[in-house]
Amino acid sequence: MNYFNDTYETSRKAFLNSAARLREKYPNAITDSFAIDRENEEGLFIDLIYLPATNHAENLVMVTSGVHGIEAYTGSAIQQLFLNEFILPDEKIIAHSSFLFVHSVNPYGQKYFRRVTSRNVDLNRNFALSDKLFETENQAYAELNELLNPSGLYRKKPAENLRFFLKTMRQIQKKGIKTFRQAILQGQYHHEKGIFFGGKAFEPQKTIMEQITCRFAKGHKRLVLIDLHTGYGYRGRLHLIGMDQYPNPAVLEQLRKLYPTEKIEAADKDSGDFYKISGSLFEFLFQRCTEEKVTVLPIAWEFGTFDNIKVRKSLESLRIMINENRGFHYGYANKESKKQTLEAFRQLYYPDDKKWRQQVLQKSKAVFDQLLHQLEKSNQ
Ligand SMILES: [Zn+2]
Repeated sequence: MNYFNDTYETSRKAFLNSAARLREKYPNAITDSFAIDRENEEGLFIDLIYLPATNHAENLVMVTSGVHGIEAYTGSAIQQLFLNEFILPDEKIIAHSSFLFVHSVNPYGQKYFRRVTSRNVDLNRNFALSDKLFETENQAYAELNELLNPSGLYRKKPAENLRFFLKTMRQIQKKGIKTFRQAILQGQYHHEKGIFFGGKAFEPQKTIMEQITCRFAKGHKRLVLIDLHTGYGYRGRLHLIGMDQYPNPAVLEQLRKLYPTEKIEAADKDSGDFYKISGSLFEFLFQRCTEEKVTVLPIAWEFGTFDNIKVRKSLESLRIMINENRGFHYGYANKESKKQTLEAFRQLYYPDDKKWRQQVLQKSKAVFDQLLHQLEKSNQ
């Protein structure tokens, strides 16, 4: 079965078809769709299917795709895999756990192969309880603005990678790699055409995700959140990324039990690549659901595409992001520059590579299977 689609519409249709089949089998299942409904985003929806446990359930497993638009293609494939090959054939799975699948949180980004929304917002920098978020200062980013967000038509030039590498290495030597990464990745609220822009106001997704989560998490003790991503890490490998800080060590303890054979990065601070972001979905849901007395156990599943763990490769992928963002806002000097930039961007977040896609499905199957076992144990 090929779960990997090439357009937003076919990807959505495949998800809706899987959902329809599940509803046939499980009449208590609930499906719903939320229109984003604003300029440039007509006909775009966040879709969901909720499967309530047949017995009393302590856990709600929530699987989200496409917080970063283009990454939804792989996320959707994994959701279809879980729905068709786990939940549809085996009703025991929903005996003691409820499941919620949220498809394409940023459908604009998926449709147009961007990470961000139509307002250039990285959704994972746009979630918070209070709109004070938008007053967040990131002075270190401002200092790097020219390097990160050059303006004017983009024209591909020979040796530009090397020049970019040297320029950034000078900054890294000055600031240190940790400060450099933190400045870029934390998120910023002032440069509307810049990368990692968190917005000037909440995107519609903030309210939609809040409503969805509160509505379905209610009555459960724990929300086990799997947020599907691509682009960071060793190619073909799954990296589990936790929160940068857990308000309560028991949460991390519970997460480790759910993923006994996997390393949970970010929380394991010695893994090195640790940084803090503002406006993150995890922190928002964590705080929001605590108000509802639900413990959130959030993990991002990141499927690596580019081996961008080491400095050299991570700068190369940063450069691809910068070019795509510049081309989007200021245009390209010629067709070749556009073609190569969009192609590199697409390969970074949605590799057109059978082997990679197989690895993603295989690994997802294995880890999900293990997670289901651990949940079953915890429910006994
Ligand atoms: Zn992502």
